[in-house]
Amino acid sequence: MTKKVRAKAKLDNYKAPTRVFNVPADVNGNPLRVSEYYGENVFDYKKSDILTKQDKKDIQAVVSKNQDLTKDMAEKFANAVLNWATSKGATHFTHWFQPLTGSTAEKHDAFFSLENEQPVERLSASQLIQGEPDASSFPHGGSRSTFEARGYTSWDLSSPIFLRTNENGKTLCIPTAFVSYHGDALDIKTPLLRSITQLSNIASRFCNLVSGNKREAEKVEYVDVTAGCEQEYFLVDKGLFFERPDLVMGGRTLFGAITSRNQQLEDHYFGTVPDRVMAFMQEVEVELYKLGVPAKTRHNEVAPGQFELAPIFGKANVAADQNQVIMATMQSVAIRHGFVCLLHEKPFGGINGSGKHLNWSMTDSNGDNLLEPTDAPHANYRFLAVVAMICESINRHGANLRTAISGHGNDHRLGANEAPPSIISVFLGDTLTAIFEAYAQGKSYSKEGEDFLDLRADQLARLVKDNTDRNRTSPFAFTGNKFEFRAVGSSANVGIPMTILNSAVADVMNEMNDRIEKELGEGKEVDDILKGIIKDLYNNSSKVVFNGDGYSKEWELEAEKRGLPNLRTTADALKIMANDKSNEFLTKLGVYTPSELETRYNVRVERYVKHRQIEFNTLVNMVNKDILPAAIEYKKSLAESINLQKQVGVEARVDLAILRDINEKVEQLRADNETLDKMLEAVGGREDIEVAEKIAKEMMPLSEKMADLIAYLEENVSEELWPLPTYYDLLFIR
Ligand code: ADP
Ligand code: MG
Repeated sequence: MTKKVRAKAKLDNYKAPTRVFNVPADVNGNPLRVSEYYGENVFDYKKSDILTKQDKKDIQAVVSKNQDLTKDMAEKFANAVLNWATSKGATHFTHWFQPLTGSTAEKHDAFFSLENEQPVERLSASQLIQGEPDASSFPHGGSRSTFEARGYTSWDLSSPIFLRTNENGKTLCIPTAFVSYHGDALDIKTPLLRSITQLSNIASRFCNLVSGNKREAEKVEYVDVTAGCEQEYFLVDKGLFFERPDLVMGGRTLFGAITSRNQQLEDHYFGTVPDRVMAFMQEVEVELYKLGVPAKTRHNEVAPGQFELAPIFGKANVAADQNQVIMATMQSVAIRHGFVCLLHEKPFGGINGSGKHLNWSMTDSNGDNLLEPTDAPHANYRFLAVVAMICESINRHGANLRTAISGHGNDHRLGANEAPPSIISVFLGDTLTAIFEAYAQGKSYSKEGEDFLDLRADQLARLVKDNTDRNRTSPFAFTGNKFEFRAVGSSANVGIPMTILNSAVADVMNEMNDRIEKELGEGKEVDDILKGIIKDLYNNSSKVVFNGDGYSKEWELEAEKRGLPNLRTTADALKIMANDKSNEFLTKLGVYTPSELETRYNVRVERYVKHRQIEFNTLVNMVNKDILPAAIEYKKSLAESINLQKQVGVEARVDLAILRDINEKVEQLRADNETLDKMLEAVGGREDIEVAEKIAKEMMPLSEKMADLIAYLEENVSEELWPLPTYYDLLFIR
């Protein structure tokens, strides 16, 4: 981009109009309340007017797993879906699934069909229930030989069917699982569903074991795993985005000089949302409401150009699907507003990256949250026992959780002094920690009155202090009545960390259930049994509890002393996946088979290597085609200036000094670029763990050194000649 073009682009962007869209309204043009159109693009069989009362009852029984789906019912259901979807203008349907790419996949078929040469719309039961995408084109980690290309998608009744709307039509999306011909899970959803089933059964057993002599009506029938994902993202101008090959190819800038003003004034977080961004957020929310996604919170995040959207939590599987819908909706709406939505964990160096806080808890069939401390947490032994079990799960399986959130993007975030470290610890807060410390030593704990905050201003309402303070630095924090897994990356499919978390908790709880049952049989009181569990588990796992500053160097040293794993890179973390011993709890629970784990390990290694290779190739190209030519052009103008001055007998000292500096950096950059290129060549097509390690230990540091050199050039080469949008352009134009 020449100076002129760039100046014009900037100007256009300043003037970028706010997109006005049609807010849902009634026939008179009055805006509808959200509650009036919420869920209008989600199929709700209860509202179908072609299903009979009895049909609806039968379907309810199937959904709540009390009855199997019969062919007849499936036909009726498919017909009702077809009727609803086509009446709303849908022309196509697709099975919507989550292969191991981490994103979603779909293949559309038209409802339109020809019967006796007559045009009709059709959706058969088998089309609803089962699909047969070619599995060989999806990552499968070598789990099947290539000739066995068949894969199946299978309808997930627990997640609602929805309509995706584009400018020119609608598509019916049927959430499905994706398995191989031999029944191996080839997706993220299937293991998640298995882990939810396991945890629900195990937690129900726990609730019923400790409920004492409760009435039959209060028996816990199931436990819902609940999740709420706070989604962070960046918005950059679309025009500028396409001028950065690194953003286009890999979703992050591979270099960039940090602007003088970035986030140090702390004025962006919770600041007034810029108009153009607000218009984007409002359109996203309308789309989400129609899709039955309960968007709740929106705000500016810490970094300039960074924002957050959080929904109201829901059942884990639905929340995981909805998070995919949220990400896809944000990306498509952004384009309509002249933005590109960046979901990468670290689009820009030197400022905050993006995470996806996974809020997680369990609610029993009576509606009680298992992590609700109530007014007297110290006497709530069921609650304390559950927290102690979760601490023990992290103690046992923290490395697996670390692995579950690893990936090339998150590597830039974890331990980068702005996000949780790569050491997985638990934050409990002062009150809970004091309670556990007391019980762990067999002492009692007494609460000292209610904590009110004295604001010394009578006009203000009295605030009750929470049992936990906030801790932004902990990867896994207790936040009031849920745990918040904060180390999850913004682009992640939450199904993966949630599967591991559910399984880790199920593993410990399962063991404790046996202990409770045994001790009940010996005539012990429930409270005493729970106290024993709280004591033993906390004593065993207190080394993972840490309430201090997770960003500090001291914690890193302290964690090492405590023997906690610190798996810094994806290459380190993935080795855990190859370790049968550390996977045992997953196979024992039946969440993954050994071969499914192997598949995932292979796919994760392969994808890490591929992503990095794309980045390195992009970097090599940008250096050759953009950076070096710009620097050489600048050198040329300096040399000309020096010559001119020489001709009139002036000593061009400044020009010479600049030329020497630039020259030195250019030489280094070119040499490094060649080294990186040779390393890439040497690696060839290999995608194994050794290559992953070489990338993490040698190639990444080299590319970061190059990024520093480029940043120097960006800061020193004349603005007029710099060919790429800078952080200034990308972060401050909106
Ligand atoms: P924060 O202060 O952590 O940014 P937010 O209100 O932005 O809080 O997000 C908290 C998230 O936690 C929301 O998505 C909320 O619905 C979710 N949440 C609240 N309670 C639970 C629960 N019991 N289980 C799972 N998620 C929950
Ligand atoms: Mg949060």
